[in-house]
Amino acid sequence: MALKNKHYPHLFTPLDIGFVTIKNRILMGSMHTGLEEAKSGFERLATYYAERARGGVGMIITGGIAPNIEGSSGAKLSTNAEAAQHKIVTDAVHNADSDVRICMQILHEGPLASNDICVSPSGIRSRISKFTPAKLSEDGIEKQISDMVNCAQLARAAGYDGVEIIGSAGYLISSFLVKKTNLRTDDWGGSYENRMRFALETVRRIRAAVGDEFILIFRIAAMDMLQGGMSWDEVVLLAKRMQDLGVNIISSHFTWHEAAIPTIATMVPRAAFSSVTGRLRKELDIPTITSNRINMPKIAEAVLARGDADLVSMARPMLADPDFARKAKQGKDDEINTCIACNQACLDHLFTGQHVSCLVNPRACNETILNYLPVDRAKNIAVVGAGPAGLSFATIAAERGHQVTLFDAADEIGGQFNLAKQIPGKEEFYETLRYYGRMLELHGVDLRLNTMVTTDMLMGGGFDEIIIATGINPRTPDIEGINHAKVISYIDVIKGQRPVGKSAAIIGAGGIGFDIAELISHSGCSSSLDIELFAKEWGIDFDNHPRGGIAGVETVITKSTREIYLLQRKTTPVGRGLGKTTGWTHRITLNRRGVNMLNGVQYLKIDDEGLHILVHDQPQTLNVETIIICAGQTSQRTLYDELQEGGLNVSLVGGAYEAGELDAKRAIDQASRLAAVI
Ligand code: FAD
Ligand code: NAP
Ligand code: SF4
Repeated sequence: MALKNKHYPHLFTPLDIGFVTIKNRILMGSMHTGLEEAKSGFERLATYYAERARGGVGMIITGGIAPNIEGSSGAKLSTNAEAAQHKIVTDAVHNADSDVRICMQILHEGPLASNDICVSPSGIRSRISKFTPAKLSEDGIEKQISDMVNCAQLARAAGYDGVEIIGSAGYLISSFLVKKTNLRTDDWGGSYENRMRFALETVRRIRAAVGDEFILIFRIAAMDMLQGGMSWDEVVLLAKRMQDLGVNIISSHFTWHEAAIPTIATMVPRAAFSSVTGRLRKELDIPTITSNRINMPKIAEAVLARGDADLVSMARPMLADPDFARKAKQGKDDEINTCIACNQACLDHLFTGQHVSCLVNPRACNETILNYLPVDRAKNIAVVGAGPAGLSFATIAAERGHQVTLFDAADEIGGQFNLAKQIPGKEEFYETLRYYGRMLELHGVDLRLNTMVTTDMLMGGGFDEIIIATGINPRTPDIEGINHAKVISYIDVIKGQRPVGKSAAIIGAGGIGFDIAELISHSGCSSSLDIELFAKEWGIDFDNHPRGGIAGVETVITKSTREIYLLQRKTTPVGRGLGKTTGWTHRITLNRRGVNMLNGVQYLKIDDEGLHILVHDQPQTLNVETIIICAGQTSQRTLYDELQEGGLNVSLVGGAYEAGELDAKRAIDQASRLAAVI
């Protein structure tokens, strides 16, 4: 008998599903990347997946591939020519490690497909889609099933070890299951037995077509977060029926895309939903997969140890670190580049038509383009500023073999991430700093903290290259009375250097304005650290699982004890510029806490009375005790200008390069690309 892994015994126990063994319990979950539709995309996908296979995952589920045009927003698999493209991916994965299994997700998007020939059981448009689907005729239903069977057969021919059939999230199969989207009165609608028919027929016919020795995973909406969604009994019945039909594994999915409850954002506690899978697992004889906000090995191990699942799916964590599984196996958790669940470079990209990458790992999905290769000649490089830009530059340049000295005026690395990590809901930022700290050690970067670098210090320093990553200065807006005693900066607030009164106005409603509103409207423990609190805030009942997990559950709203105004000059809705997939969660939270969000504001003056403004040209005085400035930032580049004048070889990265619309995604991406070629 093989020895148990001493770090994570559950995670590294193989799973035997009869005709095949999965070498460990780490599953790379399905994530569409956008490469599926890109030029030479399959070659890039092959390299991307092969790198994760070499990184030690047990099984990979690809991003969703549609069985036909009507079910697709992009990629489909319905022809032999398309199967040949997929073969590039399966060969690459199996060549990288023949013990890694790769399954293709069959995703018929139904009413959520971005095309004007999309279909659904009853022709009901989803609130998140701009297309109204056509109601399927009985022949149309037969065609959709046949197309899914054809897709599964082609997947098998393309070398996949199995398929995952998505039966959740508001896509076609799930839209048959739920009454609110299935109003049919024929054999495919009405009773639950009839509403299940489409899912069951699809799976039954796929199993018959692909034979017994092909992995079939059914992804079920274990808690759909939908008013009028599935009851617990319905979830269990469907899972059991799938088991009877020869499905090998049940994967649990949480939420429909149209539900207004966060399930993967950074504010969601780690492994918040795994208990739901645990409950389902008790009803079944086949293995189950759980997912959502499981981003470190110890969380995954705990999920398995308490019997919540047999396999743990991690999608975004595999973008953040392709070697996650290998590092976990070796007990090198401190070397894992942790997914912080920001969605900024993955899902936000996907939903804005860009291909997916990762904020903390810009190589994700760029494996054929961005590589950190050993250098022929080591240079002596100084990096000034240990914020995200300086850290990513320094660690990559040193990993390549350069001799790097990293300076920061502060007594710790991290720059503005040391502010961000203190915002309730952003605790994951600690992980990024832990990762960089370890990489500095591992690659031998000479770190000099508490060192305010001046031009003189660098002029005779003998450095071949100097990288200026000095970040930003907060902008001070030109408002009469801006030096009044009641005006403070966001830095003062986060560092607790100046008290905030019972009433406050925040000038500027960008990312930082929202974070400050979160911080000062919040009380008690951060709900991202407490599943029970999170459930109360969002009205979820994990224990009793009423219909959808939410029916009849009151949201416990804690109004802010402060009177807060969040202000912007633009006339667009406040918060519109926030992340596509997370902005709504922040807007809902602040609204519930009673934060007043005003747009179309002109700032007139600040005096003892408070902040005098025009709101859509109407005068108003906000009689507040504190005014907090969050009005953007300007680049901090004096050092750069002076060094350049002195004729030194100097480059700019991050906020020092450009402060406008800067975020950590851009800072890390820019610095990594420079470090790759220097
Ligand atoms: P900085 O992080 O500003 O680092 C600059 C460093 O240079 C500092 O450590 C400073 O001490 C050092 N320095 C400056 N001058 C000198 C000198 N002369 N000598 C030595 N050292 C010097 N971004 C996101 O993408 N997502 C978020 O969710 C997010 N949330 C945020 C929340 C808050 C509250 C804040 C404040 C920022 C947030 N950001 C977020 C923005 C993100 O932190 C910045 O975009 C990023 O830190 C910029 O990185 P940087 O390395 O260019 O600069
Ligand atoms: P920002 O997003 O650019 O917002 C600045 C705000 O200040 C805007 O609301 C702007 O709106 C206002 N403003 C700009 N100039 C002004 C002036 N002269 N007078 C008064 N108001 C002015 O910048 P930020 O909030 O400082 O954030 C910095 C960066 O960190 C951002 O790029 C952001 O992406 C990133 N960040 C991201 C997150 C996240 O969750 N993704 C969180 C925090 C920070 P008006 O011009 O309409 O008034
Ligand atoms: Fe995770 Fe953010 Fe990277 Fe997406 S962009 S994988 S959420 S760290």
